Amino acid sequence: MNDNLDPLFKPKSVALIGASVKELSIGNVIIKNLLHYNFRGPVYPINPKVDEIRGLKAYPSVLDVPGEVDLAHIVIPPPFVPGEVENCGKKGVKAIIVNTAGFKEMGAEGQALEEDFLSRARKYGIRVVGPNCQGIINSDPEFNAYCNFTFTYPKPGHISVVAQSGGVGAVLMQAFYDMGIGQRMYASNGNGSDVSITEILSYYGKDEETRAIVLYAESIENPKEFISIARQVTTRKPVLAITAGRTDKGAEASRSHIGGLAGSISMDLIYKKAGILTFRSQEDLCHAAVALSSQPVPKGNRVGIITNTGGPSVIAIDELVSCGLEIPPLSEKAAEKLHGTMLESASVRNPLDVVATAGPAHFKSALEVMMQEPQFDSIYINFVTPPFVDCENVAREIAAAAKAGTKPIVCNYMTDKEKWGGTSKILKDGEIPCFDFAETAARALHSLVRYNGIRSAEAGCVRNFTDVNKDTVRSILGNASSQNREVLSATEVYGILEAYHVPVASWKVAGNLQEALAAAEGIGFPVVIKADSEQIIHKSDVGGVAVNIQNAGEATMVMETMIRNLGAGIRFFVQKFLPKGRELIIGAKAVEGVGHIIGFGLGGIFVEVLKDIVFSISPVSDTEAISMIHSVKATPLIHGFRGEKGISIEKTSEIIQRISMLVNDFPVIRELDLNPLFAIGDEIHVVDARIIL
Ligand code: ADP
Ligand code: MG
Repeated sequence: MNDNLDPLFKPKSVALIGASVKELSIGNVIIKNLLHYNFRGPVYPINPKVDEIRGLKAYPSVLDVPGEVDLAHIVIPPPFVPGEVENCGKKGVKAIIVNTAGFKEMGAEGQALEEDFLSRARKYGIRVVGPNCQGIINSDPEFNAYCNFTFTYPKPGHISVVAQSGGVGAVLMQAFYDMGIGQRMYASNGNGSDVSITEILSYYGKDEETRAIVLYAESIENPKEFISIARQVTTRKPVLAITAGRTDKGAEASRSHIGGLAGSISMDLIYKKAGILTFRSQEDLCHAAVALSSQPVPKGNRVGIITNTGGPSVIAIDELVSCGLEIPPLSEKAAEKLHGTMLESASVRNPLDVVATAGPAHFKSALEVMMQEPQFDSIYINFVTPPFVDCENVAREIAAAAKAGTKPIVCNYMTDKEKWGGTSKILKDGEIPCFDFAETAARALHSLVRYNGIRSAEAGCVRNFTDVNKDTVRSILGNASSQNREVLSATEVYGILEAYHVPVASWKVAGNLQEALAAAEGIGFPVVIKADSEQIIHKSDVGGVAVNIQNAGEATMVMETMIRNLGAGIRFFVQKFLPKGRELIIGAKAVEGVGHIIGFGLGGIFVEVLKDIVFSISPVSDTEAISMIHSVKATPLIHGFRGEKGISIEKTSEIIQRISMLVNDFPVIRELDLNPLFAIGDEIHVVDARIIL
C-alpha cells in the first residue's frame, strides 16, 4: 500500500487525452469543469485533429505538451489506452485517471487491455485511478482540482468522499451541496485496478482539513488490509459508510448451521471491525457527516435539551431515547440559576423550554448552564424563528456558545430559510449542524455519540490461551486431510474441542451396541445416544438422536431401532444427558480474504425463527466477545429473566474466544458449529458439534 496520492489529488497541471470540441462529451466536460472550478494550473487538451478546445491550445500528443504534466485523464476507447499510458510514462506524468469504461468488466479482452496498461503504468511508477470512473475533486483553493466529469461544484469544507460507485458518490456530493455544506476531497475509483479505496481512505485520514470521511463500497479487495488501515483512521476521525453489497456472494453451500445463517458476510462486519459508522440510509449518513465534521465528540450519551417550542421536543426526545441516549434532569444548582434568568413562563427542567418569546439573553443563559452542567455531554436545540424575536442575535448566541464550549450542539432549525436568511447564515458560519426535522437532528446527535463509543471503546485484547494442545489438533486435522475427509467424526470433533478446553458433555464413541452399553454405564444414566457417521449431518432428521435414556433396556431398544433404520455399520456416540437451561449456538465460518467470522446466538427458535445471531470477524478480542453476547436481541434471557438464573457471560465469552483462536490457528477449518451448548449459570457444555474442513 502506498498512500502518497498527492500527484493525484494535488496536481499542478492536467492533460486530457481524448479532449473533444463536442460539448456533450466527457472529453469536453472535464475541461469545462477544470475551468469553471478555477483550476490553479495549466490544462492541456490532447487531440491531434484540432487546434483549440474551450479557448485552450490543444496538442496532438501528450509528448508535445511544453510544460510538465502531473495528472492525465484518458477518455479514449480501450484499445488505445495502453499506448497512451506508455506516452504518459515517457512524458513523466505522475498520475492517470482512466475515465474510459470497457475493461475487465467486459470480459477477457478488456481484462487483457487493463493488465496491459497497468503494467505500463507500473513500469513508469504512475498511479492509476479507474478505469471506469469519474475521477477526483480537491476543493483546496490552492488547487481547485475538478478532475471529474460530474456537475456539482462543492465549496471548500471538511467532508471527504470516496466511492466505488460514481453514481452514489455524486448523489452524496449533491446532498451536501444542497445543505450548503462544503466538501474537501472526492474520489470515484471505479474498477479500482490500481489506487484502492484503502489507499484513498488512508490518504484522507492524513489530510488535516478532512474531519469526516464518507465511504461507499460494495466490496473490498483486501479486507484484512482495509480493516487494519481503517482502524488507524477511525481513531483519528470518523469514517461513515453505507452498508451495501457483499464480499462473498454466498455461492458455496453450507453444511453447518452457522454457515447457513451467515449466508454471505455483509460489509457490515468489516466496517464494524474497522470502527466505521454504518448507515442504511444515505440521508442519515449525510446528516451524521455534517454533525461529525463540525462538532466535537461528546464524552457520553447524556443530552441537555433547549427548546422554544413544545411539540418538536417531544418528537426529539422519543427519537433520542429510542437511540439509547439519556435525558437526565437538571441539577438543583442549574435549575436555581435558570430560575433567575428565564422568562416566568419558561419550564426549567430538561428539556428546558425557554418558550417562544425567549430572546438572545435567555438563550445565552440556557446555553451557558447546559455547557457547564457536568451531567450533560451534548446539547440539543429546537429553534423555531418567532417573528417577534431577535432571531439573528439568538443565532449569534448559539454560534458563540458552540465556539466557546467543548460540548457538541445539534440544532433542529425550523424556519423559512429565505425570509430568515440572515439567521440561517449566522448558524451556517458558526458551523452549527441544523436540520429541518427534530428526529433527523436527534439521529445526527446519536451518530456523534456512536462515534464516541467507537473511539473510546477499549481496544480489547486477543487472548492467547496457552493451555491448548495444538499438536493434538494438528494431528487430527492432518489425518482427516490425508484421507480427503471433509466432515470430521465425533471422536475427532470432540477431541479437538477438548484440546482447546472447550467444555463438552461427557462422551464416548462406541463401535457397536455392546460397547455403547458399557459406555453408558461408564458415563452414568441418563444418557443420550446418537448415531455417529460422516454421512449424517443432521442426526435428529434421520432419527439418529435419542435423549434421556434411563437404563440399559431403553438404550438397547433405541440402538436396535437406529441399526434397523441407518444400517448395521453405524457407530454410537454416547453422551451424558444434560438439563437444557439456556441453549446457545457458537460457530465459525471461513470467508475468503477475511479469515473467519465467529457467530453467537441463543439456540432454538431464537436462531431458527428470529435469526437472532451476531457475527464478528476473528480474531475476536475479549471486549468483542462480551459485546457479541450483549448484542443479540435476546440478551435479557442471557442475564436472567423473571427469576430464571442468567448464564455466565465470562465463561460464554471465553468459549467464543477459544473457538476464535482455534479457527485462527487452523484455517483449514471451514465451518465449525457448536449447536447447541447448554448453559445453566456457570455450567456450560457443548452437546453437539460439527467441524467441516
Ligand atoms: P443434530 O443437530 O445433528 O440433529 P444434536 O446432537 O444437536 O443433533 O441433538 C438434537 C437435540 O437433542 C439437541 O438440539 C438437544 O436439544 C438434544 N440433545 C442433544 N444432546 C443432548 C444432551 N447431551 N443432553 C440433553 N439434550 C441433548
Ligand atoms: Mg445440533
